[in-house]
Amino acid sequence: MSSDGTGGHGPREGGYKPSELEAKWQGRWDELGTNGFTRDALQTAENRYYQLMMFPYPSAEGLHVGNIYAFTGADVHGRFQRLTGKQVFEPIGFDAFGIHSENFALKQGIHPMDLIPSNVANFTRQLRRIGGMFDWEHAVDTTDPDYYRWTQWIFIQLFNAGLAVRKEAPVNWCPSCMTVLANEQVIAGRCERCETPVEQRRIAQWFFRITEYAQRLLDNLDGLDWSETTKKAQLNWIGRSEGATLRFPILPADHREEGDDGGTGSLESKVSTDAPVIEVFTTRPDTVFGATYMVLSPEHPLVDEVTDAAQADAVTAYREQAAAKDLVARQKVEKTKTGVHTGGYCLNPATGQSIPIWVADYVLMEYGTGAIMAVPGHDQRDFDFAEAMGLPIVRVVMGEEAGSRVGVGTEAPLSEAYAGDGVMVNSGQFDGLAVADAKPAISAWLAESGRGETKVNYRLHDWCISRQRYWGPPIPIIHCEACGPVAVPEADLPVVLPRVEDFKPDDSGVSPLARVEEWYQVDCPHCAAPARRETDVSDTFLDSSWYFLRYPSTDYHD
Ligand SMILES: [Zn+2]
Ligand SMILES: [Zn+2]
Repeated sequence: MSSDGTGGHGPREGGYKPSELEAKWQGRWDELGTNGFTRDALQTAENRYYQLMMFPYPSAEGLHVGNIYAFTGADVHGRFQRLTGKQVFEPIGFDAFGIHSENFALKQGIHPMDLIPSNVANFTRQLRRIGGMFDWEHAVDTTDPDYYRWTQWIFIQLFNAGLAVRKEAPVNWCPSCMTVLANEQVIAGRCERCETPVEQRRIAQWFFRITEYAQRLLDNLDGLDWSETTKKAQLNWIGRSEGATLRFPILPADHREEGDDGGTGSLESKVSTDAPVIEVFTTRPDTVFGATYMVLSPEHPLVDEVTDAAQADAVTAYREQAAAKDLVARQKVEKTKTGVHTGGYCLNPATGQSIPIWVADYVLMEYGTGAIMAVPGHDQRDFDFAEAMGLPIVRVVMGEEAGSRVGVGTEAPLSEAYAGDGVMVNSGQFDGLAVADAKPAISAWLAESGRGETKVNYRLHDWCISRQRYWGPPIPIIHCEACGPVAVPEADLPVVLPRVEDFKPDDSGVSPLARVEEWYQVDCPHCAAPARRETDVSDTFLDSSWYFLRYPSTDYHD
């Protein structure tokens, strides 16, 4: 196509010059305040439409094509709404805290407090140039103390409600980034950012107790206008399962011999009522008669209690080895099973027989109770483990197909775990019951003797929101020896992140703020005794979990 305007169907005289045309109209929008709302206008506008979109993380490279892709589609939708007569509020902001910014700052040797404002300025310039109908009067920046004052305020409300708690937990630790990683940030046992093999550590962290809301999150999915795939992902993430909590009493050392059952029930009398018990959660209480061994996670608090002297060294070595692995690798189904016998035994409350207690890293402390009753006849993971370790495999469910085949009896060895439906066998008084009926019947029977009860379990975990890094809002807590953790009084918010030149994380696992004595030394707000500020900062996902509330309230400061 000709570009000089001489062709019959070519562009008109002078050609289309986007830089001139766009600058002209963008200038006009600014002049007239076309896209901006005043505080009052936002309150009183009729036929309002809140066009919310993602907000970018302002990287040093500037906007990328993916940003433009996301914002253009959303902006087109906003313009469409305006053309239908609505008053469209379309704000934008910057999600500028977090490890990405901090790592980049470290790499470049520029302090994030210098780097981020220039990135934000560049993003602002670029976002203005693409001509989105953004309301720049209501832009937010999560690193602005005016913004994170409210991030901290939200934390305090949750803390006061008992929904923000500090507890010790095993975490994925990247020894190179020197921080905690979410399971989603570990790819094939390595850190997604730097590909260093991930380790496991136990540290005290702050959690939001989102598990309290598991059922509500589930129930409210019904009314949501989300795609089925997203709903399904949410469903799996919450992971509701119905089953039972069962209790296996630990046998005293002098009755730990395998086979020392002397007939059903005789061991029961040797277990004192206050004997420590191992609790398990199972979705298959019907298979308890087939539980031929117990497995504890290496971090289970009862491991020392059940381990005998002969096995102590082996158990210690195994636990150390497990601690060096990351949490994701341990859950891999296809992984070769490893484990060690503790030398201890517990009582199967259904059969009245003693079963050995093992430690194996395929059981995770933070799922269920950190212990499982192993039913190798009907769970493939347990089957593989039992085969490898030479543990007994008992069939307690007979599928229709197997039962009708000639020569297959209830004692016939299984070649793999049978997870299907069927009727109970080798299960005492419950023989002949269908699986669906056996579940409540066996749970109720064990409940009579205090050895179990029905229970709903969720896969969902509490949300770990603390980070042992520098570039985030300080968690607004003061630790006092006498009062424990105390919330910073709301009048003292924000707790401003101090400018620290040496913000590099180190291998100690504590935040760089823990090196700034003049910052963390404060008086307890309750008793005025010398106390210490929390030196962890909060996760960047906390900043972005409420930004849609700040856009319409940027004009408010109380
Ligand atoms: Zn890393
Ligand atoms: Zn105090």
